[in-house]
Amino acid sequence: MHLDQKISLKPFHTFGMEVEARYFIEPRTKEEILTLLNYRNMIHMPVLILGGGSNLLFTKDFDGLVIRIKSKGIEVHESDQDYVRITVQAGEDWDPFVQFCVERRWAGLENLSLIPGTVGAAPIQNIGAYGVEVKETIESVHFVEIDSGIQKRFTNDECDFGYRESIFKKSLKGKIIILDVTFRLLKTSAIDISNQEHLKLDYGLIREELWMMNITRPGISDVREAVCAIRRRKLPDPAKVANAGSFFKNPFIPEEQKNVLCDRFPSMPWYPEQFDVKNVGLNSDNPVMFKIPAAWLIEQCGWKGHREGDAGVYPDQPLVLVNYGNAGCQQILDLMKRIIDSVSDRFGIILEPEVNIH
Ligand code: FAD
Ligand code: NAP
Repeated sequence: MHLDQKISLKPFHTFGMEVEARYFIEPRTKEEILTLLNYRNMIHMPVLILGGGSNLLFTKDFDGLVIRIKSKGIEVHESDQDYVRITVQAGEDWDPFVQFCVERRWAGLENLSLIPGTVGAAPIQNIGAYGVEVKETIESVHFVEIDSGIQKRFTNDECDFGYRESIFKKSLKGKIIILDVTFRLLKTSAIDISNQEHLKLDYGLIREELWMMNITRPGISDVREAVCAIRRRKLPDPAKVANAGSFFKNPFIPEEQKNVLCDRFPSMPWYPEQFDVKNVGLNSDNPVMFKIPAAWLIEQCGWKGHREGDAGVYPDQPLVLVNYGNAGCQQILDLMKRIIDSVSDRFGIILEPEVNIH
């Protein structure tokens, strides 16, 4: 392992800010990560774990050790007739892993195609897209505590997954390194080809896209292709326009508030969701909450396509803040704050960042 000093983090995150790490290292195996933690216990300095850097906003130089996880490996376990179990090292890139599964006709991840980042970061915010969340396929998550070096394996339940949330983004935030993730996927080669029950098609534009592709009886590779096509059209490619995906989480509000807002704004979209009340800090017996697309709220406040210097709100998806070149961290933070204030003034809803701000 090679320890770099005073290294620019610009190539290692997708928001394109010019920030520097005091120390930087890239462990390439699980053993190297564990070795590094022994060393880290001797030097005592802040540690930041980096995957693909696609869900981060750096606000300043990092005066500590950045550990960029590059551990690779996919292990396919013995499987039964219907399901396959796979353990994947944290540093594997997410989308090639999805492709690996789709090619083998293992279902469950195809709606999560083309999400940037690493496998190790996927459980952290329980990545989700097109009606699927990764928690539906995760069997367990293996991690190491940064301070003690103790390794643990959490079952799906213990990960406390919620909407773009997990225990790793809450009480264990910054305290652990995810080493590998074990998935359980459905073997579609074992089921009747006419059986479509495992496919999630009723979300957004998937059916429309499949129809445009002339596909009437889709398989999981068709779903992957459709999702990739929709995403390529609508979302900015970080290689061309720097961004960190959805900057804000979609807010959830109780029914009463939703009804008041619907009277005032009849075109406001909303989606009822069975919600775990502990995740929204409510003392309510009613677990149904209403998701309001943050993109709609931001657009209504006039931000869509807004640009100030190199900081902007993406014209095709106002949930994404973009850096057109040399936007500074402070510019993005100022824009964030003004968006939050205007949505709060108009709708009484406080948007929260989804992006991890460091
Ligand atoms: P990073 O950005 O490197 O890290 C994210 C956080 O996790 C940081 O706090 C970091 O410290 C921590 N972390 C990373 N790896 C580890 C590890 N091994 N152990 C412990 N902590 C770790 N997200 C969705 O949910 N759905 C989407 O559809 C989606 N689309 C996106 C589209 C675009 C264009 C972009 C830029 C982002 C999108 N995202 C989406 C957000 C992002 O891709 C995901 O959250 C992804 O899982 C982040 O992975 P990463 O490896 O880049 O994590
Ligand atoms: P979209 O399909 O235009 O939908 C807009 C919003 O409405 C999304 O926030 C979505 O919620 C919600 N929605 C739409 N149909 C729904 C349904 N049937 N049931 C419940 N909620 C519904 O969104 P998009 O911007 O093009 O993104 C497509 C998918 O990719 C979404 O799932 C989005 O979350 C995901 N994505 C995530 C990121 C990220 O960084 N987190 C970035 C890009 C795209 P959900 O967001 O809960 O799905």
